Amino acid sequence: MTTAVESFKFEAEVQQVLHLVIHSLYSNRDIFLRELVSNASDACDKLRFEALQNADLYGSQSELRIDIDADEDAKTLTIRDSGIGMSREELIDNLGTIARSGTKKFLDQLSQGQKADANLIGQFGVGFYSAFIVADRVTVETCRAGAQEGWRWVSDGTGEYTLEAVDDLPRGTRITLHLKDDAHEYLQTWKLRSLITTWSDHIAFPISVPKLEDGKPTDERETVNQASALWTRPKSELNDEDYQTFYKHVSHDFNEPMAWTHNRVEGNQNFTSLLYVPRKAPFDFMFNRDERKGLRLYVKRVFIMDAAEQMLPAYLRFVRGVVDSDDLPLNVSRELLQNTRQLDKLKSALTRRVLDLLDRVAGEETDKYVGFWEEFGPLLKEGVAEDHANRERIAKLLRFASTRSEKATDLTSLDDYIARMKPEQKEIFYLTADGWNAARNSPQLEALKAREVEVLLLHERIDEWMIGYLQEYAGKSLKSVAKGELDLDALGEPADKAEREELKKASGDTVKKLKDLLGERVKDVRVSDRLTSSPSCLVIEDQDMALHMQRLLKAAGHEAPSSQPVLEINPAHGLVQRLGENGDDATSQDLALLLFEQAQLAEGAALDDPAGFIARVNRAILR
Ligand code: ADP
Ligand code: MG
Repeated sequence: MTTAVESFKFEAEVQQVLHLVIHSLYSNRDIFLRELVSNASDACDKLRFEALQNADLYGSQSELRIDIDADEDAKTLTIRDSGIGMSREELIDNLGTIARSGTKKFLDQLSQGQKADANLIGQFGVGFYSAFIVADRVTVETCRAGAQEGWRWVSDGTGEYTLEAVDDLPRGTRITLHLKDDAHEYLQTWKLRSLITTWSDHIAFPISVPKLEDGKPTDERETVNQASALWTRPKSELNDEDYQTFYKHVSHDFNEPMAWTHNRVEGNQNFTSLLYVPRKAPFDFMFNRDERKGLRLYVKRVFIMDAAEQMLPAYLRFVRGVVDSDDLPLNVSRELLQNTRQLDKLKSALTRRVLDLLDRVAGEETDKYVGFWEEFGPLLKEGVAEDHANRERIAKLLRFASTRSEKATDLTSLDDYIARMKPEQKEIFYLTADGWNAARNSPQLEALKAREVEVLLLHERIDEWMIGYLQEYAGKSLKSVAKGELDLDALGEPADKAEREELKKASGDTVKKLKDLLGERVKDVRVSDRLTSSPSCLVIEDQDMALHMQRLLKAAGHEAPSSQPVLEINPAHGLVQRLGENGDDATSQDLALLLFEQAQLAEGAALDDPAGFIARVNRAILR
């Protein structure tokens, strides 16, 4: 066999990552061990999975394990696993290039601060390179299961690495770290032990270090971790810290989780689930509906695949954790997963678990729930539209701003709104708008404010779409205060009712005049029951899409329905009265247009003819 040593250049992005790892990651150096052990554990999982189809892959060594050894004299630390190993191509692909899309973000985040936290590294799928935080040279010797030939990869983490073929390597991977001078603490067995117990106790394969005698390592080995899958252990044996460290392992998130739920289900279906709700959304989370990771499917303790997409609906894509089924076949494939009825049932059971968990947090730990809502609220709104079966449960979890409060962040649930409803109030009133200020100052609210009726302010973009799916909650229908005719008589009469009735009767001519003057711009003109102080507002029919939404869709290049608004006027307002009294055509034309344009502005629309509007305002002021 030839022993030619070939040199390769790292891909540019890898070089950048390495540069940052070597020069900026000082805090939390310990995490390199967690990352390398996590990779070793993944490699064991992968072998166990591939061996389901081909038991020969185990060869003479059926034990899956991870061994950690330090060499005081050579100043090296080795992490060895009997997992799947890597072929030459896999070495080049996995350790010389970066396939993930997140790398750019990682680099951006790290370049921001001088002393970046090394904890970040695992989250971005570049954990291996953390070896270079503590080592100035790393050797990876690896033999793919089933292959004869093994490979040695060596790099000092600058621009290049070398590859050469090596005979007689055992299956799996051995990573040797030539420790930097300031990293010799990792040669101490007690230090390694303590790191393993903190970071890697839940790893399902035994992690061993040499047994010590008189402080010197012997040939005997000692397993340091629990080495049993955490979710299979009874809840009573586990404490919060166990759950939290395991979360960090499955999610690669270094924050604590917000909440979790651990359950064993027996009966028609038998499975264990351990589901977590994170505290913070990962960096590119909201935009990325497609990349869904972090919910691992096991069948009878064997890791099968990351199957978030198959096991939970898209709107719950923030959930992380583990599902271990006793019923699915071990050779289950992604295609098969898409088509099994069993999986549908599993999916709906898991969905309910998550919704129950959220409901519990919302009820018992309000502050926590507020934090959750800030991070993931829009996803639950997607859920209202997407998950018909659980619509009511999800609606219960929604939070909205309302006219009750002067703060945009002071939110209410539908249940709390209902509890505050006036005895004679039958509907839940809401207003959609583009922004909180536009919503709370909208003229549409005037008559409701005058009657002290609370209105929910739905000011996020997703709201108009979502509310289309939420016609009812707890037997009460939801009613937009900006759509259709608003009949508020049941909710109490305004003090000046008689006066208003008079005015209404007297404004027949004004309405007709406005219709003539505005022509095609409006569908109709009518006297409003909504307004108490503004002169005019725009209203659409019950079934029409809100005007701000129509604009948004059009601006984004989508087809959007165009519905002509109705202009409602307040006959008590001086401007409307002036129009009624005025005979002169040019002035009336100005007033009519101003009533219309003001209503457009209040609603958030851009005017067709802003310069014309300004001229009209100026004429009116100077007149
Ligand atoms: P990630 O683990 O998130 O994929 P890493 O940078 O930690 O990112 O590792 C990159 C890749 O290198 C892994 O996905 C895996 O394919 C490969 N790899 C790393 N360590 C091992 C190992 N001990 N055995 C087999 N493959 C490994
Ligand atoms: Mg990794």
